[in-house]
Amino acid sequence: MTSMTRLKIAIQKSGRLSEQSLNLLERSGLSFAKSKDKLFWYGRNLPVDLLLVRDDDIPRLLLEGVCQLGIVGENVTREKLLEARCRRPQATLESLTQLDFGHCRLMLAVPEKMDYQGPEDLAGKRLATSYPQLTRQWLDNNRVEADIVTLSGAVEIAPSLGTADAIVDLVSTGTTLRANHLKATDEVLNSQAALFRSPETLDADAEKLLNTLLTRIEGVRQAAESKYVMLHAPRSRLAEISAILPGAESPTVLTLEGQGDRVAVHAVCTEQVFWEHLEELKRAGASAVLVLPVEKMLA
Ligand code: ATP
Ligand code: ZN
Repeated sequence: MTSMTRLKIAIQKSGRLSEQSLNLLERSGLSFAKSKDKLFWYGRNLPVDLLLVRDDDIPRLLLEGVCQLGIVGENVTREKLLEARCRRPQATLESLTQLDFGHCRLMLAVPEKMDYQGPEDLAGKRLATSYPQLTRQWLDNNRVEADIVTLSGAVEIAPSLGTADAIVDLVSTGTTLRANHLKATDEVLNSQAALFRSPETLDADAEKLLNTLLTRIEGVRQAAESKYVMLHAPRSRLAEISAILPGAESPTVLTLEGQGDRVAVHAVCTEQVFWEHLEELKRAGASAVLVLPVEKMLA
């Protein structure tokens, strides 16, 4: 690798995605020379630097090639991409992997008192939202013509202020909606955080570095779900026991000194192991069941 090759990853500076984005990168083996007030953190052990910005800026930084990678919500990325396509129709951002955090839903919500039957009831109405592009696309898909009022915040109070008839906003628990006498009706987008890459082409060294990083990130995500299970079982019931272990491939079977038919079984379970699984294992004759976390994984 040439000493010139460095990658830049953009993450949210402070907000709902910040902590988990940084945590994922650190667990992937990256460490940074942090500075509390600076936007730029220098990568110490790998030539990968961090840019800390507002989440709304990340799609543009990727499109312009300022950063090669970015962690941001699909909601923001889709909205900004549609916006960019008004100027450059071919604009695109590749999602490398969904990250399983930052889950949220962009929903249509109408006043509780409204007798809402379906999107056609919105014809000629005004919708307040911070996501005008996604809202317009959803209206078009439903062949409804309505006006969109773009607001950057406090969208949920627009109906009571009389500035809109309904809203399209991110919903998690629904508490905010209820407090404003609104009810969520239709889902416009189901979103989570994802790792996106810039459309700019990289040289071979940078591409290699990006792939190393991606493999590590996948490994961290796999390891987070995986467990190492150890147990004792009668040899005669091995097939049954293996079938219960969630997401395990050919377990290791070891002889137990002086235990006759009983053997030790070790397996990596790549899916969640619940109490129900352990109880089922016990019924199948297993004993001394141990479930251990897996820290790192490299297939
Ligand atoms: P910034 O200052 O970076 O612009 P923000 O106020 O726009 O921050 P946050 O509220 O921190 O953003 O949300 C960032 C992202 O977190 C959202 O775009 C969305 O992808 C995700 N998210 C997850 N759950 C929720 C939720 N309940 N409400 C809003 N966003 C959520
Ligand atoms: Zn934002």
